[in-house]
Amino acid sequence: ARTQDLSAANTELKMLVRELSVAKERAEAASQAKSQFLANMSHEIRTPMNGVLGMAELLLETDLQPRQRRFAEVIQQSGVSLLGVINDVLDFSKIEAGKLALETIDFGVGAMVEEVVTLFAESARRKGLELLCDLPPAPIAVWGDPGRLRQVLTNLVSNAVKFTERGEVVVRVTMLETTGAAHVLRFEVSDTGIGIPTHLQERIFNAFDQADGSMTRRFGGTGLGLAIARQLVGLMGSALTVRSGEGQGSTFGFVLRLARA
Ligand code: ADP
Repeated sequence: ARTQDLSAANTELKMLVRELSVAKERAEAASQAKSQFLANMSHEIRTPMNGVLGMAELLLETDLQPRQRRFAEVIQQSGVSLLGVINDVLDFSKIEAGKLALETIDFGVGAMVEEVVTLFAESARRKGLELLCDLPPAPIAVWGDPGRLRQVLTNLVSNAVKFTERGEVVVRVTMLETTGAAHVLRFEVSDTGIGIPTHLQERIFNAFDQADGSMTRRFGGTGLGLAIARQLVGLMGSALTVRSGEGQGSTFGFVLRLARA
């Protein structure tokens, strides 16, 4: 009788395991389908957006009344920010679907960082902020994905400038270690801005989460930037972390081991 009981229990357990694994597969397929749908949609939306932007640009080169010019400029600016949101959603869904592959290209770290900083020279100057670039003196040639690294740094510098009213934003690259095969580099973006309270420091890395909802109304943004940056840095084999305190500025950073080129 005991053997029979045991074997009945065993059969039941097996059925349960089978049911659970079917449910798990179904949930995974649904999540996969959702990400795939997002990725396709973002792509379909991007194509006509480029048409809208291109035509707005051409329109701005024609003879326009001042009022017409203002309208066309708003169309163009709105198009640019909409494209930014679409690109974020596309990247995010690509990473979620496990479809984002990093490239391996040789590039110069200094030139890439300077390129990013140059993008923000004008917006920093307009706010009266000091924007500094602190790089090791000798050029550093490595193998990696400069496009994605640039994307991470662009996001961090953009936030730093956005959330800082006075003081400075510093982009710092420090050489921690050099072996025959690789450089170990620390990348840091520091600001003297509003800072982030300790209890919110993990939340800001979640998709669509922002430290303070009222900031969104003031500064805009989707809350996707840091989620994407953290995932990209993760794909590069590192971790994006933050040191900050309310009103004490913030430092975002990560350490990368990159093969020497
Ligand atoms: P977004 O900037 O589009 O809101 P992010 O994911 O880049 O999205 O940032 C999420 C939130 O983290 C921001 O809304 C802000 O509250 C906080 N944050 C990010 N960077 C900084 C910074 N340098 N200083 C203060 N707060 C920051």
